[in-house]
Amino acid sequence: MLLRYKLGSLFPFVKYTNNLCEWAKKSKVTVLNYHAIPERNIENFKEQIEWVNDRYNIITPLEFNRFLKNNHTLNGHNIMITFDDGFLSSYKAIKQVLTPLGIKTLLFIPTGFVKRDRLGSWKKYVADNIYNGRLEEQNIEDYHCPMEYKQLKELLLDGHIIGGHTVSHKNLRLIKENKVLKNELLDSKHELENYFGIKIDSVAFPFGGIEHIDTKALLLIKNNYTYSYSNIRGTNTKDSDPIFIYRQNVIPDMPSNYLGLTIERGLSWYWFNDRKQLESMIV
Ligand SMILES: [Zn+2]
Repeated sequence: MLLRYKLGSLFPFVKYTNNLCEWAKKSKVTVLNYHAIPERNIENFKEQIEWVNDRYNIITPLEFNRFLKNNHTLNGHNIMITFDDGFLSSYKAIKQVLTPLGIKTLLFIPTGFVKRDRLGSWKKYVADNIYNGRLEEQNIEDYHCPMEYKQLKELLLDGHIIGGHTVSHKNLRLIKENKVLKNELLDSKHELENYFGIKIDSVAFPFGGIEHIDTKALLLIKNNYTYSYSNIRGTNTKDSDPIFIYRQNVIPDMPSNYLGLTIERGLSWYWFNDRKQLESMIV
């Protein structure tokens, strides 16, 4: 086990301390963010979800939207689940683990990766665009294979919702040309809207850190989407601006109590300055 996972044993203490402070009285939503779910982690993933389901109220993405718009009352600490990048292994995990529990998710789909029909080298896309060159193409494992539109359609019919995640999963902050930025943020949105006949009102920044976000991308998003997700750690309340939604990035092989520590803001203090910086990008 990784050394940092030993911190998970602090979960009961952190939860107890949280319950003593003012924060406990606020209704709030922690958004979890998963990516691929390798077959070898499916049992642990199932354990995580059951662990969370026993301790928290798991809400649907639509309930979360209404909560942010002050049209829906929630009590206590709630959880919403997202998946980024449209991996086939996420589809399988949703069907196997979440569907039997009636849990609905929000999936962020890069349209250059998840295509109507799978063609060409998806491993190159994963290595170059999703791992941004940090992994070689030959080291990309099969669980990174993309789902296809027919699987997305099935998830939509099951009550999950989808959001935009650009076309080519680039760091939007590094894009200087407005035309290219528009192509990434709007062509992907329109492609999904036209194909599935739905409205896409949520988007997640590729990578999602403060170094991947800037004012020009945020303004374009604000004018074309309603909900914008980062990967900056934090918790959301009804006072949160829907353009600055925080998420907790989690992985399917972490121990449940470490996941719990993450949910209870055990890691979020480290992102304090990033949250401040994000919220000052547009006023
Ligand atoms: Zn992504």
